[in-house]
Amino acid sequence: MEKQHKFSIFYVLIGIWVVLIAQSYIASMFAVKTVPYSQFMTLLKTGKVTEIAISQDQIQGKMKGDQNKIEEFKTVRVDPELSKTLEQYNVTFKGEVQSTFLRDILSWVLPVFLFIGIWYLFMKRMGPQQPGFMSLGKNKAKIYMENELNVKFTDVAGVDEAKQELVEVIDFLKTPGKFGELGGKIPKGILLVGPPGTGKTLLAKAVAGESGVPFFSMSGSDFVEMFVGLGAARVRDLFVQAKQKAPCIIFIDELDALGKARGLGGVTGGHDEREQTLNQLLVEMDGFDSKVGVILMAATNRPEILDPALLRPGRFDRHILVDRPDKLGRADILKVHLRNVKAAPDLDIEQIAAMTPGMVGADLANLVNEAALLAVRRDKAEVGIAEFQEAVERVIAGLEKKNRLINPHEREVVAHHEMGHAIVAMSLPGTDPVHKISIIPRGIAALGYTMQVPTDDRFLMSKSELLNKIASLLGGRAAEEIVFNDISTGAHNDLSRATDIAKSMVKEYGMSSSLGQVYLAHDKRSPYMDLGMQAGGDYSEATSQAIDHEIQQIISSQYTVALDILKGRKDVLDKGAKLLLDKEKIDHDEIEALMEQSS
Ligand code: ADP
Ligand code: MG
Ligand code: ZN
Repeated sequence: MEKQHKFSIFYVLIGIWVVLIAQSYIASMFAVKTVPYSQFMTLLKTGKVTEIAISQDQIQGKMKGDQNKIEEFKTVRVDPELSKTLEQYNVTFKGEVQSTFLRDILSWVLPVFLFIGIWYLFMKRMGPQQPGFMSLGKNKAKIYMENELNVKFTDVAGVDEAKQELVEVIDFLKTPGKFGELGGKIPKGILLVGPPGTGKTLLAKAVAGESGVPFFSMSGSDFVEMFVGLGAARVRDLFVQAKQKAPCIIFIDELDALGKARGLGGVTGGHDEREQTLNQLLVEMDGFDSKVGVILMAATNRPEILDPALLRPGRFDRHILVDRPDKLGRADILKVHLRNVKAAPDLDIEQIAAMTPGMVGADLANLVNEAALLAVRRDKAEVGIAEFQEAVERVIAGLEKKNRLINPHEREVVAHHEMGHAIVAMSLPGTDPVHKISIIPRGIAALGYTMQVPTDDRFLMSKSELLNKIASLLGGRAAEEIVFNDISTGAHNDLSRATDIAKSMVKEYGMSSSLGQVYLAHDKRSPYMDLGMQAGGDYSEATSQAIDHEIQQIISSQYTVALDILKGRKDVLDKGAKLLLDKEKIDHDEIEALMEQSS
């Protein structure tokens, strides 16, 4: 804020300076030499004066100056009997003074306009986030209409099920009349639901692009800071315009910002505007028939907070899940984004897909971009697997900060900790293979990491696999205890993940022997559950204690498992940690070699 202030004062000063310069320049252009009356008389007598205009008390005219150049001059009139003298000297004369009005106007008004012009340009340059005096009262929520979207279904990958559901909509938009005749029922409102970055916005655009209809879009978050009444007016406007352009698509991005349940977050107050806008949207949705050829689409990543009124039949009653892509999906998405990049011919896309579990389309687009940038920085002609490997690390764990100093003792703790994870994981069946271990600090949180890459996307996991997973998460802390006889805060994240798994095993998967096959996780709010129902389980205090006890039991027994494994392989632990301290990073093959040497 402070900075912006200085910034604009600076431009005001420049502006004033420009005005002054321009003013004096223009004035000098019109400058007229003032001569004394006596000199005027001499000039007159020598025949130098060619033309004059006379007023009550001033004389202006033209004369031949040096080298017979015509110059303007003026003088104060002294002799009232001048005209006789003039006739004598053969000069044309008239009886008024040329007005100086125009000149005065020009020399002041022109620079002022110049100044305003410059100011306006700067305001525009600074963009919409800095509302200048010009944009006051203008609406931020613009309705964007795009006629020819180039986005096609082939640009959206890894979401085949969602695409299948949308094919019907495209058919309808292409020939709305046909559907009316056949009596087919077309959904009015389609809600795309899924985590951020999975391609919801892209998918909506692709529907418009495939069917070749206009695409009206608006973002729900634009309404948040709007003046009262404008939001509702915009919604009305949007529907009026859309009906004229039918068949077409109206797309409301980030519906949750606008469609939050009424009454939620009421403490802050002042959400009347949002409510009015939401009400208007509901009114408009009820008031149109999809037969006119207008399809309403919306996207959200938080369906659970939407006002239930929005989800009722006849409104957004068709929900399409746009989920995180699986391994094949990720490979397809990578292929889409690799179209614009010169990749090495032997680049193994499947391998990259395997390295990126959990990433969504936006992450993968970012990944390809990072890899391409790395290739440029390395002066390579094509993007290869090495660039992708590094890009994955960057995207996963933040930028590599090689020069960050950790004290030698900390480094040693981190090295043993990470080796602990790796050894436990590799000693137990059913855990993900260890891809690499690193003690290069990344970002703020992680001092080191052990990267385990699942061979496949998993949908089912057995009890023993979950237990093994917990043991390998606890391996870091167990190694610290064995080697240093002390434990550190470095296991913070491991503990939270291990506890989460144990909790799910007891409460959701019925995997605890003392509590048996019961589901105890009803306190989680499911997306479409009635909003009236609040958190709080429907089990007794005794059960609650039993749950806590079971979770602790699982964690402590798996901690013992980890301790036992590491005690048995102390030599690998030490050797591996030493290697890590030396090289900072060791990969899968090196770890395998270490494990085999000692067994
Ligand atoms: P969302 O709206 O779900 O948050 P976006 O549609 O805005 O996600 O996606 C952001 C960008 O990420 C897209 O412009 C595209 O480049 C990329 N992307 C996301 N999902 C996909 C996908 N399924 N296929 C291809 N690219 C994708
Ligand atoms: Mg989006
Ligand atoms: Zn750890």
